[in-house]
Amino acid sequence: MGECWERGTATFMILGNQCTRACRFCNVQSNMRPAPVDLDEPERLANTALAMELKHVVITSVARDDLPDGGALQFARCLSKIRELGPTLTTEVLVPDFMGNEQSLNLVTKESPNVFNHNLETVRRLTPRVRSKALYDRSLALLKLAKTQNPQMRTKSGLMLGLGEDDDEVLQALIDLRAHNCEHLTLGQYLRPSAWHHPVQRYVNPEEFSQWGNVAKNLGFSHVESAPLVRSSYHAEEGV
Ligand code: SF4
Repeated sequence: MGECWERGTATFMILGNQCTRACRFCNVQSNMRPAPVDLDEPERLANTALAMELKHVVITSVARDDLPDGGALQFARCLSKIRELGPTLTTEVLVPDFMGNEQSLNLVTKESPNVFNHNLETVRRLTPRVRSKALYDRSLALLKLAKTQNPQMRTKSGLMLGLGEDDDEVLQALIDLRAHNCEHLTLGQYLRPSAWHHPVQRYVNPEEFSQWGNVAKNLGFSHVESAPLVRSSYHAEEGV
C-alpha cells in the first residue's frame, strides 16, 4: 500500500460492497440483492482521485449479476467522469465477467481505459471449486473480446498460486491467456481469509514466483508481476 501511495496509484471498488457471487477465496460479503446503483458515485470517485493527487486510478467492482448490464455502465460512467475532470489521469479497470455479455463489455471498452484487467484467478480444474458462477473459458473469451473491441487497451489478468494447482496446469493457464491476447500478468500467493474459505494448499516460495515470472515473459507477456504479496493492482501504473 505504501508503494502505491508513493506512486500515486489507488484502487476503488465501485457498485457497493456486496457481491451477487460467493467465491471460495474472496472475503467480500455476498448478497443476491445489493443496493441500487449510486449515480453520484462516478463524480465522487473522480473528485476523490483528484483530491488524492493520483496519477493512476484502478477501478474494480463486485459482481452485479442483479443488473441487466452487470454493472458495466457504471464502469463506463466512472471512466468518462475521470476523463472529464482529470484528463491526465491514466486508468485501469478490473472487471467481473458480465456473464460474457458482449454489449455490456463494449460499454466499458469503448471508454478506453489504459488497461483492461479480468482475473482468471486459478487454473481450469479448480475454477468450479473456487470461483462462483464463473467459467474458465468465458473469462478467457472476455479478455480476447475486449482486445478485439478496443485494441488500444492493454489486456491483463492474474492468478493466485497455492490453491492446489500443479505446475502443468499453471503453465497451461499462462499459455491459454497468451492465446487469448492477454498481455500483462500478475501472480501472487493465495491467503485464506477465514476458516470458511478454501484452504491454502501450499505456500509457494519467492524463488518459484521468480521462475514463473520468467516463464511468463518467455511466453510473451509484456509486463509481469510475480511474487507472494503481488495482488492485481500491484505496480499497476507500470503497465500503462
Ligand atoms: S465475484 Fe469478485 S467480489 Fe464477488 S465473491 Fe467473487 S471474487 Fe469476490
